[in-house]
Amino acid sequence: MKEVITRFAPSPTGYLHIGGARTALFSWAYAKKYQGKFILRVEDTDLERSTPEAIEAIKDGMEWLELDYDGPIYFQTQRFERYTEVINQMLKDGLAYHCYSSKEELEKVREAQMSLGKKPKYDGKWRPETNKTLPSIPDHNKPVIRFKNPTDGAISWKDLVKGVISIQNQELDDFIIARSDGSPTYNFCVVVDDWDMNISHVIRGDDHINNTPRQINLLHALQAPVPEYAHLSMILGSDGQKLSKRHGAVSVTHYRDMGYVPEAVKNYLARLGWSHGDDEIFSMKEFCTLFDFDHVTSSAAQFNDEKLDWLNNHYIKAMAIDELTELLNPPNSYDNELYKSAVMLYRDRAKSLNEIAESIHYFFSAPVISQELLEKYINADVIRMVENFMQGLNEKVWNDESINQYLKDFVKEEGIKFPIIAMPLRTILAGTDHTPSVGSIIAIMGKNEVNQRWQDFKSNYDN
Ligand code: GLU
Repeated sequence: MKEVITRFAPSPTGYLHIGGARTALFSWAYAKKYQGKFILRVEDTDLERSTPEAIEAIKDGMEWLELDYDGPIYFQTQRFERYTEVINQMLKDGLAYHCYSSKEELEKVREAQMSLGKKPKYDGKWRPETNKTLPSIPDHNKPVIRFKNPTDGAISWKDLVKGVISIQNQELDDFIIARSDGSPTYNFCVVVDDWDMNISHVIRGDDHINNTPRQINLLHALQAPVPEYAHLSMILGSDGQKLSKRHGAVSVTHYRDMGYVPEAVKNYLARLGWSHGDDEIFSMKEFCTLFDFDHVTSSAAQFNDEKLDWLNNHYIKAMAIDELTELLNPPNSYDNELYKSAVMLYRDRAKSLNEIAESIHYFFSAPVISQELLEKYINADVIRMVENFMQGLNEKVWNDESINQYLKDFVKEEGIKFPIIAMPLRTILAGTDHTPSVGSIIAIMGKNEVNQRWQDFKSNYDN
């Protein structure tokens, strides 16, 4: 088998979005599966729309997802000499020709075709043919260069995702390979690059299906090998509409900012259009081994936020506590052991890193208690009860087990239901009535801090 060489070829006009990241992941995994190569090629020939920020955003996203590529990053803007060389050779070999038709002229042709109910297409005015006399060259127009596309027969390929696709050459026209300023066009650069880079598998979004027959014709003309093609279906938002900014985070690094871990995002993307039975959890090693195009769906994949949250929780729970703490990047002033204990208390239920960081914030700065909570849980009787509780608590050994036991005993002795004491304690110590085990919170927070908060609370409450 030929060496597998795949590529990810983003146009740097924005951030690395979810669809692009999935394309990159599938291309990367396919190369890894066959111990091949994965190339990153930046398609930056559209000088008006390409930005250095977008290039950085793509690199940043790839790095975060640990999608490592082989060799340097290729930039199309650094390959103009090569494109010019191929174009000149094509002109010499009669595979391409100059076209002097003006915009206005082409527009007229188009209108005439449309009024006859025909699909608009270049009329071939400047296409050289045997026994055809070409018009005389106007001196005011700078020509574009067109590819001499075959006029008969069909072009077909067996797409690894979509199956056999066939297009009649008559449907295609002699597309422009170099603009009047000499700059090469998108379809042309892709072909030269795929050829020069020995790409064996072109894996990309299905919005490029229309380009593929043109690119194959060009490859044939250049006598270059034709790679395999795999066109991935688009990704829909959870509402069934095409995934767009409206759906919130569509850039991968935005997921990082929201506290998703890369393992979860990669696992999620892996299952976005590909399946292996009903399995949901895959390490990247497993994914690279199992990935194949037979199980990539040809219909659109739908984004599901809950599943991503579920996966994120799975990977957060599975992470070593030191690694997790490092990712959370606590301020230097925080006590590390306290931080770790607080993280452990929350991580099993957390959907994101940010959720953990927010949830444990009250351990490090005294809570602001809302009027609503005060009215709901605090009154003079409660204050007396908590005072009583605190006195007993201070005589206990300060660890999770003994404090939780004390809570149970207290509830029994007072003949009250657990929330009657737990809710005021949560309110006073954490400023919320939603926390994990209140006994564990007391144990982790420590004797001094718990007493301090209680004293502060009382003096504020009295006033
Ligand atoms: N540059 C194209 C894009 O960002 C991809 C082209 C390709 O993969 O062939 O959509």
